Amino acid sequence: MVPVSRRRFLGLAASATAVSALSGRLRAAWRPSPVRPPRADDCVVVSSANGLRTVAEARRLVLEERLRPVSAAVRAVGIVEADPDDMSVGYGGLPNEDGVVQLDSACMDGPTHNAGAVAALEGILHPARVAERVMDRTDHVLLVGEGAQRFALEQGFELQEMLTDAARKRWQQWLATRGEDDRLWPLDGSDPDDPMEMEEQRPWGTIHCSVRAPNGALGCCTTTSGLAFKIPGRVGDSPLVGCGLYCDDTVGSAGATGRGEAAILSGGSWLVVERMRAGDDPTEACLHALARVSEQTERAARWQPGLWRDGRPAFGLTFYAVRKDGAFGSASLLGRPHSRHFAVADGEGARIEESAILHVLGS
Ligand code: ASP
Repeated sequence: MVPVSRRRFLGLAASATAVSALSGRLRAAWRPSPVRPPRADDCVVVSSANGLRTVAEARRLVLEERLRPVSAAVRAVGIVEADPDDMSVGYGGLPNEDGVVQLDSACMDGPTHNAGAVAALEGILHPARVAERVMDRTDHVLLVGEGAQRFALEQGFELQEMLTDAARKRWQQWLATRGEDDRLWPLDGSDPDDPMEMEEQRPWGTIHCSVRAPNGALGCCTTTSGLAFKIPGRVGDSPLVGCGLYCDDTVGSAGATGRGEAAILSGGSWLVVERMRAGDDPTEACLHALARVSEQTERAARWQPGLWRDGRPAFGLTFYAVRKDGAFGSASLLGRPHSRHFAVADGEGARIEESAILHVLGS
């Protein structure tokens, strides 16, 4: 028998405890009834729940205009980027502390395993299209701030005011009520027992879109105005490859919406794809990544107690995934059964489906 040192033994024991906590959490998760898997030669698109029009359009762009999956995702999220009523993405997005809309976006192309991204970009309506240009026309992956804007202008994009009257009003209300510790979690004045209420105080929102072409090629895109009233220059997970999106053309594509810091600290979208590589179906892969986030947050909460309440994280996060064979799924960190959703388009049409839930509230 190979001798095991005491330190190594303790290490093994600790990781065995972590593994069983993780599988306990996965067992307790709520799962929606399974949906019929798409045909092997189908075009399948998933997105966050604000993307019903986006998934339909991305599918049309692949099937009718023969766009590659990544370009279909980039073009189709443009619907939400241009929508003033979606206060979490593009035009009409909620601004940073200074009242300036700063946008984050990235896209990733499966077949070439290439990506492009922009962060803290100001004054440009379609940051996802700029990210696509970074991918296609430079040897870089990520451009930020002024440099990203200069690049966009060179590429023919035009400057425009991105703050709408409605978003300015929300920002002014926030300014009038902001607390001293506003930059720290949890947010001043939020109800710690109700994470949905916390989201309401300082809303998140984003659109992620993953596309699988009939031949199995993959591509994805995530675009957002990020956390509302963020510190100027704050970059979330959305433009970070492996965090707010990731795709590997041999396995699948994934993305995240919700608390970006948690998707960054877990390498969340990368982990979802790696779980699919290891054999998980898309929903289980999303749940597994969330269980990891949960376990990491519990440890982090020793220093940041506001992150953890009643045996679960005190924030929202959702993953979306599509596998190489067209199977798809999504899971949210917390919520009541049937309360979390995502959009999908396949041969059965464009529709809203239920996401699985790791920490079931109200049970
Ligand atoms: N994940 C985005 C961010 O943290 C926001 C969101 O998805 O709501 O910037």
